[in-house]
Amino acid sequence: MLLDLLFPRRCILCLVPGSTLCAACTSALPRVVPPLCARCGSPVAWPVTRCRECSGRRLAFGAARAAVVYDAGVQTLVSSWKERGLRDLASLAAAIVAEAVTRPAVHVITFVPEDGDRSLRRGHHPPVRLARELGHRWDLPVRSLLRRTRRLRPQRGLGREERRRNVQGAFVAESVRGRVLLVDDVYTTGATVSAAASALRRAGASSVEVVTFARAVRR
Ligand SMILES: [Zn+2]
Ligand SMILES: [Zn+2]
Repeated sequence: MLLDLLFPRRCILCLVPGSTLCAACTSALPRVVPPLCARCGSPVAWPVTRCRECSGRRLAFGAARAAVVYDAGVQTLVSSWKERGLRDLASLAAAIVAEAVTRPAVHVITFVPEDGDRSLRRGHHPPVRLARELGHRWDLPVRSLLRRTRRLRPQRGLGREERRRNVQGAFVAESVRGRVLLVDDVYTTGATVSAAASALRRAGASSVEVVTFARAVRR
């Protein structure tokens, strides 16, 4: 298309012309590799059912899995995805997720909704695009089940407990049956997806699993 002629696409990370993310950068994205904590998906030294990161926490989801580690390159990728849309990134991210994560045994896919304020701007919302791409790949229906009840103060810079309080009761869900897969772009402490999963369960979901593109990993 015309825009491609005027502004040839370049790799977001290495600026090589051609595609939004070149093959070399795609394969160099740091994958989340097992063994993982069965519950929160954090990489661990040996398989455990709860790890240092999630033990003693009330998490409303059954398990969380992610494809790549949220390092500096992936942060650049996710923020460009948010700011500029970059249609082809959604299918690329879904392909990377589908490679890393086994298709969950769920009935429906939903996603963490956009902040009320942000939807007024002409921004892009990676979770909905990723959810649709995964629905397509995994042959699962995608429903917009969640709504935010209020504006949140940004989670960035908050500690774990503050994050939990910040998102508590921040979501309501439409009535739903069966097992639900909740999609988000980044898993940081799990506070947001846990609050969203809790709304889904109050609305009738028998269980909620979480899949994100990226995950913060504490070393
Ligand atoms: Zn590149
Ligand atoms: Zn864990």
